[in-house]
Amino acid sequence: MTYEKSIEAFAEAQKHIPGGVNSPVRSFKSVGGNPPFIASAKGSRVTDIDGNEYIDYVGSWGPMILGHSHPKVVEAIQKTAVLGASFGAPTLLETEIAKQIKKMVPSVDSVRMVNSGTEATMSALRLARGYTNRDLVIKFEGCYHGHNDSFLIEAGSGALTFGVPNTPGVTKGTAHDTLTAKFNDLASVQRLFEENNGKIAAVILEPITGNMGVIVPDKEFIEGVRNLCDENQTVLIFDEVMTGFRVAKGCAQEVLGIKPDLTTFGKIIGGGLPVGAYGGKQEIMEMLAPQGPVYQAGTLSGNPLAMAAGLTTLRLLDQAQDFYEDLEISSALLEEGLQNNLKELKFKGVINRVGSMFTLFFTEEESVKSLYDVNKCDTSLFARYFKISLDSGIYLAPSQYEAGFVSAAHTNEDIRKTIEASYSALKQLKG
Ligand code: PMP
Repeated sequence: MTYEKSIEAFAEAQKHIPGGVNSPVRSFKSVGGNPPFIASAKGSRVTDIDGNEYIDYVGSWGPMILGHSHPKVVEAIQKTAVLGASFGAPTLLETEIAKQIKKMVPSVDSVRMVNSGTEATMSALRLARGYTNRDLVIKFEGCYHGHNDSFLIEAGSGALTFGVPNTPGVTKGTAHDTLTAKFNDLASVQRLFEENNGKIAAVILEPITGNMGVIVPDKEFIEGVRNLCDENQTVLIFDEVMTGFRVAKGCAQEVLGIKPDLTTFGKIIGGGLPVGAYGGKQEIMEMLAPQGPVYQAGTLSGNPLAMAAGLTTLRLLDQAQDFYEDLEISSALLEEGLQNNLKELKFKGVINRVGSMFTLFFTEEESVKSLYDVNKCDTSLFARYFKISLDSGIYLAPSQYEAGFVSAAHTNEDIRKTIEASYSALKQLKG
């Protein structure tokens, strides 16, 4: 594969855009090399401007669960676009998508649309603070909730990849209001509640993490967090921006059997367009303006194009027969193949997977259950594996601290090719 046009495009972009990208992880800085500039995508494939085609496991970082350019989603966007792109006034589509989300997620009594996952978590935290009249929030090391000041403390994803989990620019006052606990370590949460009795507005977590790679919470941990929130009248926020409608029709909360008080959404609910949302218990949601005193607004919130793409996507997920079962089958096939490769070529690694979300950790450990475990991974080995994979037409997230996503458009043939490519990559790494 050659990347000549992408190399030129990246050099040009760097003259005009900080780092050449509009979101840091796209730069490939942590794995090295030049990011391919993407020209188009269809189904399970993306094509770059040099004409190279890849089997895509990034899926725009999660939204593309139906595969790229799904004909029904494209049609919905086109039909809506000719009616006008934005009005800043109520539309029927907004009520329809709210009803659809409520139907699929029973913990949601009402839902407010915003424009990104970042906005969703920022607004949910403000709402929880307004509702409880308290200031402090507990988050977990390695969880990423977007780039709000309050959450860029021990944050995952790009912040972790680039070694800036605590970024400059966040004031000491803001940092002071964010407490961090360890994922899968209930005692660390308990301690914070004891030390800050009556002061904790909210606990926020990725119920199944993706932003330090995929990690599933232990049953006692997640149930314990729910109980601590109940005992302390603290709002439990599940950040389902990534897991929402990804791991199950009813999101991670269905998989885990735990009801949060508030849930944040993003990615899939926009079908590839910029959308976020937050929703939950009526008594909390009715605190929002104009019904209540907590202010939150948005010029483009509930944008018709985004609502049309999101609603079409959600309806397809809801109505397609055996959608999540089929996705489980192809994802399990991939996991099994990757697992066999590791075993056969005597590589140490752990694959964590929930439905179509997975991470292959290069580690000597037996399991990966927290950021502490993730930090023991061999990131330079991952970087080499990533590069070889890319060169053989497999597009993975360019960091060890991320999830991969299988879509409904990935065929058995795609999965077979991916397993084969992974085998060759590992073999090459053995030397
Ligand atoms: N929360 C989670 C769990 C996420 O994975 C992300 C994005 N990867 C966000 C929040 C932020 O969403 P956005 O990038 O749309 O602002």
